[in-house]
Amino acid sequence: MEKSKALGILRKSSYKQKNNLSFDIQREKILGLPSAQEYDIEFIEEIESAYHSSASERSGMQEVVEKAINGDYNALFFYEESRVSRQSGSDFVIDIVREIARRKPYFKFYSTSKSGEWDPDSLEVKIKMISSESDSRKISQRVIDTRNTLLGNKKRPGGPPPYGYILVEGKLVPVEHEVPIVNFIFFLAIWGTSNKDISNLLNQCNVPTRSNGNWSPSSIDVILNNHTYIGDYTNGKRKSHSNGARKPKDQFEVIKDFNEPIIPQILWNLVVQVRQLKNDFGMKMRTPFLLRGVIECKKCSEILKCKDNTPTGSKNSYLNYYCDKCKNKISPELVHPEFIKKFIQKILTVLTDSKGYTKQMLKQWEKDLKSKSTDLKHKLDIVEYHRSLLDDSNELFEEWKSALQVTMDSFKEQIELNKEELIKVERLMSNKGFTNLFSIITNSNLSMLRQSELRILVLQFTKRVIIDFIDNEQHIELKSLSL
Ligand SMILES: [Zn+2]
Repeated sequence: MEKSKALGILRKSSYKQKNNLSFDIQREKILGLPSAQEYDIEFIEEIESAYHSSASERSGMQEVVEKAINGDYNALFFYEESRVSRQSGSDFVIDIVREIARRKPYFKFYSTSKSGEWDPDSLEVKIKMISSESDSRKISQRVIDTRNTLLGNKKRPGGPPPYGYILVEGKLVPVEHEVPIVNFIFFLAIWGTSNKDISNLLNQCNVPTRSNGNWSPSSIDVILNNHTYIGDYTNGKRKSHSNGARKPKDQFEVIKDFNEPIIPQILWNLVVQVRQLKNDFGMKMRTPFLLRGVIECKKCSEILKCKDNTPTGSKNSYLNYYCDKCKNKISPELVHPEFIKKFIQKILTVLTDSKGYTKQMLKQWEKDLKSKSTDLKHKLDIVEYHRSLLDDSNELFEEWKSALQVTMDSFKEQIELNKEELIKVERLMSNKGFTNLFSIITNSNLSMLRQSELRILVLQFTKRVIIDFIDNEQHIELKSLSL
């Protein structure tokens, strides 16, 4: 019997990389897959140019799509997602897989990273690609109990309402004229604006506080960390009454969808991301070294050091990025203009391209979660039914009873976690937050950004910038886009 035809992608990059596998090894791995036995595979070899990082830009990739769509091929094999795309697989999935799957729905994909068929719609792949605020919080029975009692009447226990809300019969209700202020504060924060700068700005604009006093950096900090604004109720966030420090995220109770949210989930997620970036790269966003921590030497694969040799009182500044290993150096003035130009163009493309796709992906994710939930409830029913049939005269009655109870508890916990996940997806999907934020970013004049704003944008989107001291060239690698 004649075998069905398939395509195989073999990839190498033109510049030196630690894990640059030869075509032969990749070919051998692919041919070793069980599913490869069913196909007659035609391999396409591609050497990636260092200057085209998005999969669809590469000519080898265009050849693959062309052949897959127009030829009589039925499957595509590749060596690990990371080899096909430099951006954690996201552009590969978007550009290549979607394009082929749209025209040929029956087309199959196989990766050496998985034994079976590789499904871009699988939850596993999607979660990796989209979830940034990964709260794998364990829900204790205590949380479920609290939720049940509180959610019964949605009344908020104790404490004055936070800025943006008033209490009406024990429930939080948004205050119309304060809602834009809260949004504005979060919006400033995603651009890396410090709490101090935000409070100064509000004071300069005569925006009144609740007590008609002045805004302080700490009052901004309280707002930016308050889950109420995305609709959640938190309990036990502070370490103790005498110690007001916040506990780590997984150690306090969160009750989702407790009150009406006034900021979109995506804005909250971005603020969380920015906070993380500040932790990782240092709080100071206003720096002449825009690429500190992400720029590296091509030859040595070393992160470049930043050195300021400006003598005190000098009018001219003598700044350099330099490589500790090969001692090559370059001034930021020579690197930044080209970088900024390329970078802005790149992120605008990524944002525009991913908008529709992300929405579609969220919809599918929502569907998966709903069906998983139905499935879990069904399983729970079955176990409950079995328990009701248990005969208490049986000598193993107690053992059976407790075993079934453990199973039921585990199902219940999974159902709760699933519900939380679903709430998050639904929030991300709500039109308001999503579309607005995308259009704000894509319509902003990014070349007018301040130093600190540009720095935060660079840290959010850039994986690394590789400098070739010999050819005096730079290559920008973006992170995979996560929301
Ligand atoms: Zn070097």
